Amino acid sequence: MLSMEMFKFGETKLGLPIHAYRFNPPAGGKNKAHVLVIGGVHGDEPEGVVASRCLLEIFREKYDLDLQLTLVPEFNPEGVLLKTRGNSNKVDLNRNLPTKDWSPVAATVRYQPGPSPLSENENKALVQWLEANSVQLIISLHSWKPMLNTNGDIPEAAVIAKLTGYVIEPDIGYPTPGSLGTYAGFEKKIPTLTYEIERDISFDQIIKTQVPAIIAGLKETARLRNK
Ligand SMILES: [Zn+2]
Repeated sequence: MLSMEMFKFGETKLGLPIHAYRFNPPAGGKNKAHVLVIGGVHGDEPEGVVASRCLLEIFREKYDLDLQLTLVPEFNPEGVLLKTRGNSNKVDLNRNLPTKDWSPVAATVRYQPGPSPLSENENKALVQWLEANSVQLIISLHSWKPMLNTNGDIPEAAVIAKLTGYVIEPDIGYPTPGSLGTYAGFEKKIPTLTYEIERDISFDQIIKTQVPAIIAGLKETARLRNK
């Protein structure tokens, strides 16, 4: 029997639901690590959505990881449909979280932080969910130059790096106020991996290399973080 539960993670300003899928280990989830995997934070980065949707299809058929997993394949459904970085308000959700260093000034035109921290529905849902759930690891799937950006202690990154050849980078070299890495990784002490899949790699490569690497990383989480 499958142990998957679909639920509504939140809702966008225009009323689109943000769907989430919760998977429980075959032997039950008690005392098991809980991982949040999200894709589609930036709607113009389809690679992370593809990887997330592949994980969903694979796990819907068979989920045998010894951990609890919550998967949000399209965190920014408006941006995914519009193929834009931001949501329909043109806000970059990865600059809008209520970090201590949040700033109303956009570093460049791409990085619109919104009118105030946590102004956007998607992030309100995320913060509320994180407050209600004890999570040991967050993996956020983006695309850019190939990189595993770690905020916090994430030994899983070494497993993923070995399978992908990607570099592990604790510091991407510029401040990211309002980002999930800063909010969850640094401030809330929830280790957060911002997984930058190489932009424009083929669909085949995502399925053959990136998806197995993510699953291997999750297996390492079960090995390391279960009580
Ligand atoms: Zn991104």
